[in-house]
Amino acid sequence: MTSPSEITIAANHIKEGKLVAFPTETVYGLGANALNPHAVARIFELKERPTFDPLIVHIASLEDVKKLTVTEDERVNKLAARFWPGPLTIILPKSDLVPDIVTSGLKTVGIRMPNHPVALELIRQSGCPIAAPSANKFGQLSPTQAKHVSKQLPDVDFLLDGGKAQVGIESTIISLNEKGFEILRHGVITREEIEAIIPFYAVPERDKTNIVSPGMLKSHYSPGKPIYLMNENLPADIDKTKAGLLSFSGKNTANYQMVELLAPDKELRTCAVNLFAAIHRLEESNVEYILAEPVPETGIGIAIMDKLRKAAYRYQR
Ligand code: AMP
Ligand code: MG
Repeated sequence: MTSPSEITIAANHIKEGKLVAFPTETVYGLGANALNPHAVARIFELKERPTFDPLIVHIASLEDVKKLTVTEDERVNKLAARFWPGPLTIILPKSDLVPDIVTSGLKTVGIRMPNHPVALELIRQSGCPIAAPSANKFGQLSPTQAKHVSKQLPDVDFLLDGGKAQVGIESTIISLNEKGFEILRHGVITREEIEAIIPFYAVPERDKTNIVSPGMLKSHYSPGKPIYLMNENLPADIDKTKAGLLSFSGKNTANYQMVELLAPDKELRTCAVNLFAAIHRLEESNVEYILAEPVPETGIGIAIMDKLRKAAYRYQR
């Protein structure tokens, strides 16, 4: 676990333009001073992430929204009051302070205030907003524990261990338009929760000018082994005895080589927390492939199924 002095050392690394992997409530982030384009460039290098995929900027105070954006939109304050600190990223028009490399040249920037004491203290002590994608190689599984980071990114300058991520999947990303908000990436905060604060409005495709969320690739989060989603891309000739099962219901688990029970309490939230760690374990085991049982597509289940489909996408037969 993290000691106060470690946070100070990590903050000094950020100030010097180095990279720090740090815990947030969603997943571990790979952070750099968001205002230093050279430091940010190293994130893309270390992750082997294409530079067309913009980064989320993490802040510890609402004052930073004013500095990083050029909006007076009252909805931002309402959303912040309800969801920050927390797993909601808001896309807003960026100010000149934000280097283009952070936003991949887009005129907007994604901002959120993480709900994790270590992350918030790191940002405060660094004295700058921190740009951070998940601390994994591009396209691979997001880390929910420090050991996942050291496995994928052993060359990171500094790693803060904050234990297991409490949410376990990435933030919900929204953009604002004249009439309401749109969801660019599903996460643990649901459309219904946000609609309780501001209206939902999806801009028709034909009216979209500069969309969007370049990171919303169809294939993502790929584990190192084939992953099949039951009822979607499951081959007929599957051999259960060579397979690891991601089970939500806990039913029909017989004969699999290994079973990961994602939510003993049957709660989707628990399933989200355990998902990536369970896939990491199956990756490290000697199962040949991973089978995932679908979860109900309501609330957080929408985000969970989105992750599973992205992981399974390249294994269509
Ligand atoms: P990650 O840091 O891996 O969680 O991914 C961040 C994701 O946020 C990107 O892949 C984009 O989909 C999205 N994003 C970040 N900034 C913007 C932006 N300015 N406009 C639209 N989407 C964004
Ligand atoms: Mg990521």
